[in-house]
Amino acid sequence: MNQSSNVGTRVPSDYVCAGNALAGRTILVTGASDGIGRSAALSYAAHGATVILLGRSVEKLESIYDEIEALGAPQPAAIPFDLEQDTEETYEELARVVGEQFPVLDGLLLNAGLLGERRPLGQLRWNDWQRVMQVNVNSQFLLIRSLLPLLDAAPQASVVFTSSGVGRRGKAYWGAYAVSKFATEGMMQVLASEMENTSAIRVNAINPGATNTAMRRAAYPAESPDNNPGPAEIMPVYLYLMDAASSAVNGCSFDAQ
Ligand code: NAP
Repeated sequence: MNQSSNVGTRVPSDYVCAGNALAGRTILVTGASDGIGRSAALSYAAHGATVILLGRSVEKLESIYDEIEALGAPQPAAIPFDLEQDTEETYEELARVVGEQFPVLDGLLLNAGLLGERRPLGQLRWNDWQRVMQVNVNSQFLLIRSLLPLLDAAPQASVVFTSSGVGRRGKAYWGAYAVSKFATEGMMQVLASEMENTSAIRVNAINPGATNTAMRRAAYPAESPDNNPGPAEIMPVYLYLMDAASSAVNGCSFDAQ
């Protein structure tokens, strides 16, 4: 179904992810070292998936790797990779390394994100603008382009982008971050439209909503962290979009909350 205009879609209220729903699937998660991505990687592994963990901090990647092993889940793979790298060749090499071990990719969660400076546009530093755009937009394009052949090799694959409320309605002082999330919504719609009827790849986005992570705490230092749900509480939509239950869903921007 083409739902390119479906913003704010919700997971069906009766959806429950079966214990082994993701068995036999391989899912790459960016920003798997912390926050929402860490929780998503753990949830996918707990439901039987082999997860490829991509993040910047080796120490944090090792910690989640150990936690997944302790679950008795399929053995994950960890790839330290800085998404601020901006050469095409680096991403092609990354895809080659992934493809050597995993010739088929059933899922790609594009979750890593950078908040950047919270100031008026007129005062944003060029370097900060470029860093946010590189991590939140350009790296996603380069990852998709280089990983598409592996996703195409799957009988059914799911690409999930990560959006934000400020990527649907611009807000003062959200700067490059907000603009990058508008671009993310746009990239999702373009790719979903291209995949519709021609491919077994479905493409959607999730707006997590206010979630208690390092990024939220940095954005709202005066807020009590307990005001917001933790990442584990918003996992149903992350599971749904990787589960066969969503195989006909394409071009939607979901709300996790
Ligand atoms: P977080 O706790 O700050 O985690 C961000 C993740 O992105 C970390 O794993 C981090 O890796 C990774 N990352 C950042 N820069 C990177 C780089 N250059 N290369 C590789 N990895 C990099 O953030 P979060 O709250 O979980 O956010 C996850 C996603 O949800 C983001 O796209 C964010 O914009 C979106 N979101 C969050 C909220 C919220 O309230 N939390 C609301 C709306 C949207 P390291 O740990 O290795 O640095």
